Amino acid sequence: MNLYGVRIFFSDNLGFFLMLDNWLGRRHGSLSFRVTQVLSGHGCFGKYLCRINREPDARCHHCVHCGEDTAQHTLAECAAWEEQRRVLTNEVGGDLSLPAVVRKMVGSAESWDAVVSFCEDVMSQKEAAERE
Ligand SMILES: [Zn+2]
Repeated sequence: MNLYGVRIFFSDNLGFFLMLDNWLGRRHGSLSFRVTQVLSGHGCFGKYLCRINREPDARCHHCVHCGEDTAQHTLAECAAWEEQRRVLTNEVGGDLSLPAVVRKMVGSAESWDAVVSFCEDVMSQKEAAERE
């Protein structure tokens, strides 16, 4: 699927794909590049950067305990983004698995905005750290 010019693959999760279809039908706002990075996992994450040979390993540069930096790690686990995550979970609840987050996004404009704010804030910092 080509979504706003960024290729996203969810072939392993048909339910997620159908939800995205629903989401595109009645979206509250357009997807930014940074939101798309988090939803697709293709972006400024150690695991992805390692796969495309931009990083020697998949570890997270923002916390010490994690083995692998992924979109899910960034969204739900990384200790560096606790403050942003608290704001996000206040709006969308405690389930930060990608399907749950997308379901919340399509459900309300407030949740959509909360996810966008999280992605913009966190991903801009990850991008800045990667450039150093
Ligand atoms: Zn981390």
